[in-house]
Formats: sequence, C-alpha cells, structure tokens
Amino acid sequence: MVELKKITKTFNQKGNVTHALCDVTLSVPKGKIVGVIGESGAGKSTLIRCVNLLERPTSGEVYVNGENLMRLSQKQLALARKNIGMIFQHFNLLSSRTAGENISLPLELNHIDKKDREKRVDELLDWVGLKDKKNEYPANLSGGQKQRIAIARTLANNPKVLLSDEATSALDPATTQSILSLLKNINKELNITILLITHEMDVVKNICDNIAVMNSGKLIEKGNVAEIFSHP
Ligand code: ADP
Ligand code: ADP
Repeated sequence: MVELKKITKTFNQKGNVTHALCDVTLSVPKGKIVGVIGESGAGKSTLIRCVNLLERPTSGEVYVNGENLMRLSQKQLALARKNIGMIFQHFNLLSSRTAGENISLPLELNHIDKKDREKRVDELLDWVGLKDKKNEYPANLSGGQKQRIAIARTLANNPKVLLSDEATSALDPATTQSILSLLKNINKELNITILLITHEMDVVKNICDNIAVMNSGKLIEKGNVAEIFSHP
C-alpha cells in the first residue's frame, strides 16, 4: 500500500549539506499500522513527508496504492493525494472556521454539494465523538478535541492511507490514549492503512503492527513490537 524504495533526501542550504535520509526502504502493508520511531533529527518527519511528496526525495521511489508518485504529473499527484490523509502535532485547523466548517473544507474543495457536505460532516463528527462541538471554534476546544476534528477533516474524502506526524505529541497521556484508540478504530473499521512517526515509545508499543527505528537518516531496525522491544 505504501512502499518507499531506497529513498535518499539531501538538503543543501547555501552549501550546508544534510543527509536527512540515506537509502531508506520501508513498506506499510494494506490494513496495517506501521510506526517509525527515533530521536529528534533522525529523519522521521522528512520520511513521512516523502510519502505524499510534500518533500521530494533526492533519489528512490515512492509507491502509494500501487502508483509511482514520482512519475505523476502535478494534476495526477493532486488526485493521488486525496487518498492520503495527514494529521499533525499542532492539528493545523483553521481558527476562523468552526469545527464543522473545518471538516467541510476538503469536501468544498472537492465540489461536493451543500446537502451532501452537511450529511458527511455530521457523520464524521459522530465518528470522532464530537457531535456537540460542530459550531465551536478551535480556540474553544481541548487539544484532544482539536485532534479529533483534524482526524475527521482528513477522513472526509475517504483516504486509503493516513499519515500521522507526531499527532499525539502535544497531548497529555490520557488524551494520547484516547486518540490512539480512535486511530486503531479507523484502521480496523474503515480499513485505513496508517503510517505514523513519533518519538514516544508507548505510542508504537500500543497500536503498531510493525515498527521501524531511525537514527541519523537511516533505518537501523525493523520488526514487530515483540522483536523490537525484546532487545536489551
Ligand atoms: P525528525 O523528524 O526525526 O526530528 P527531520 O526529518 O525533521 O527529523 O530532520 C532530519 C534532518 O534533516 C535534520 O538534521 C534536519 O535539520 C534536516 N532538515 C529537515 N528539513 C530540512 C530543510 N528543509 N532544510 C535543511 N535541513 C533540513
Ligand atoms: P479531551 O481532549 O477533552 O480529553 P478526548 O480526546 O479524550 O477529549 O475525547 C473527546 C470525545 O470523544 C469525548 O466526548 C469522548 O467521550 C469521545 N471518545 C473517546 N474515545 C473515543 C473513541 N475511541 N471513539 C470515539 N469517540 C471517543
């Protein structure tokens, strides 16, 4: 479902060269949750941004839902991205829009008519357990509620793959657990494949089928939870 093949990413800022990713190969099988862990600066964020080409790898190949994204035109890429949802540490909600209007945004961009948008927004609010927050602005929501709204927004167009970029890093432990159980539900019930990056061990231990460990731009270990955490 997601396959990164021999990805490298080199940043060159005024002669200052950083090898953010070196020869990284990683796959996320359909229906699975794969977590990438590693310390700050390991390359996790660059890696996940390569999956939807927010960052274009210097070399290597990116396959999502069977398509080689690096070979697509801008127009084809825009279509492919509709199948790739993404959530972030700081939620990225629009503060001038209510919760419901935030969720509606991708539907508007997709030219869904008003009646169908309303129906879908209500469905999604129900799904994330926040029906009563439809008309609240983000400023009046807790961190966990904001992330739920961001998750609902990214589910609006029925993505096949969800990318989670430190989505629980700004949340307290109890809220983190509730967001993780929501992600697990999304994976199981909506059959959405998930790739997440995190610096929190507990996150990957809790919900990931497979784990990859990054260090200095390289994948240094891959395996299931038991394999990774049985090491001394
Ligand atoms: P992580 O998400 O694991 O903290 P990142 O992917 O953000 O790691 O960063 C990996 C390395 O790439 C770091 O050394 C970082 O400074 C560098 N880097 C990331 N983005 C850029 C950029 N746009 N320009 C230059 N260097 C970058
Ligand atoms: P807060 O940030 O206020 O702690 P939470 O993220 O914990 O908010 O929960 C937000 C709402 O979602 C609550 O009303 C809660 O009852 C509901 N909820 C909690 N877990 C789930 C779940 N796994 N699926 C759907 N709804 C849930």
